[in-house]
Amino acid sequence: MKIRAHHLLCLLGFRGLGYSPEFVRRMAGTKKRLEKGPVFSVAVVDICDDICLACPYGQEKECRKGKLSVSRTGEADRKVLKVLGLRKGETVPSDKIFPLLREKINSFSKIIPICGKCGWREVCTYYLKLRDSWRTKRKM
Ligand code: SF4
Ligand code: SF4
Repeated sequence: MKIRAHHLLCLLGFRGLGYSPEFVRRMAGTKKRLEKGPVFSVAVVDICDDICLACPYGQEKECRKGKLSVSRTGEADRKVLKVLGLRKGETVPSDKIFPLLREKINSFSKIIPICGKCGWREVCTYYLKLRDSWRTKRKM
């Protein structure tokens, strides 16, 4: 399966919301496969992937959400690849994906450069978890 790098993070924080019923089904099914197996190979890419195929904005193998979407989504992918220490197109066993994300992107300061402008961040469980933890520490 081919998944763009920033979508791995979105899958970790996914809570059943998305651009269309088909998109939500694809995200939910992929998240379940990553969590429960059986293990399969994930090619981590910085271009449109198997999630984009189910998205109304994924057209002609590009993200057409907005004028800057191609560059912005690609930039987010490359940031995630870098933090995870992966080359684009590198394959990772599906059961290693979420543990690797939790290990490498484990603080608010690490997720902000990737997700700081995302319109879904107020409903993204992983983003909110890291932000809440950062806020709690600030109050101590
Ligand atoms: S905040 Fe947005 S880009 Fe970041 S993981 Fe969540 S849904 Fe994806
Ligand atoms: S087409 Fe764009 S908005 Fe849709 S899933 Fe892919 S990157 Fe996200």
